[in-house]
Amino acid sequence: VTAPRITLLSLGAGVQSTVLALMAASGELPRLDGAVFADTRWEPRRVYDHLVKLGAVLESAGIPLYRVSKGNLRQDSLDPDHRYASVPYYVRNPDGSEGMGRRQCTSEYKLAPINRKVRELLGAAPPDYRRVPKGRICEQWIGFSVDEIGRVSDKDGVSYIHKRYPLIELGMSRADCERWLRRHGWPEVAKSACIGCPYHGNRQWRELRDHYPDEWADAVDFDAAIRRGGARGLPLDGQAFLHRSRVPLDHAPIDRVTRREWADRQGDVFDVLADQELEDGDPDGCSPYGCRSGLPVVEAEVMTP
Ligand code: SF4
Repeated sequence: VTAPRITLLSLGAGVQSTVLALMAASGELPRLDGAVFADTRWEPRRVYDHLVKLGAVLESAGIPLYRVSKGNLRQDSLDPDHRYASVPYYVRNPDGSEGMGRRQCTSEYKLAPINRKVRELLGAAPPDYRRVPKGRICEQWIGFSVDEIGRVSDKDGVSYIHKRYPLIELGMSRADCERWLRRHGWPEVAKSACIGCPYHGNRQWRELRDHYPDEWADAVDFDAAIRRGGARGLPLDGQAFLHRSRVPLDHAPIDRVTRREWADRQGDVFDVLADQELEDGDPDGCSPYGCRSGLPVVEAEVMTP
């Protein structure tokens, strides 16, 4: 595709962007010129299986699925010879204070490779695909639903991309998307995120431990390997963790019964919200497009490359 104007779906491969892909493939939404998936090469097996299935549907509708990648986030994070892309680990500083590493992984491993592909498809010249010829525009669909309207932002906007949020235009919530998927024979769509993403809530960690032991073992190994901060290390003996309790993952309190589970308890609303986040993970999860609106964190300067 090299055209003055193209329409591409940013495919995270979770519930919402899957709905957009299937709607475009079936003609319920206008046809796409392509869907772009940014692969950190550390997604769970079921996400890759889902992509294969979805890719086949898109292909039969004449919509190419482009998989782009900056590299293997897991390997790169542990490789001292690799330029360090910070993952937002939970940090305990030597003075006992707590912080969190900066999140650069999303912009480097998702946003940058997607934008590069967009520039390529808009006719930018190889090998760097830096400069988009004048007047060429990509309409980029992003799968935020109405309940995520707070994530709409133009913070990382670039002139050659016009973002569009078709689910919000359709007034569809995440629950509507889940219903739509069930009706169309896609009942199980896994949340797409790196196997060892620190934004996992207890529910996701338990799911890994109880149903995907190889991926759990992988996350536990990775957690141990980053204790000193990964490839770059933390000065002054700080420690980094994947679980927000700042306890090694295989001992972290992921079975903790949240207050929310005590049905008869009249809970403080902030407790309930905090419990919910601990259980389900950060509500913002990993999107290249929305700013994080989770709890404020003290950045551990030491994580800056
Ligand atoms: S899923 Fe987590 S670890 Fe992976 S890129 Fe997103 S924030 Fe980083």
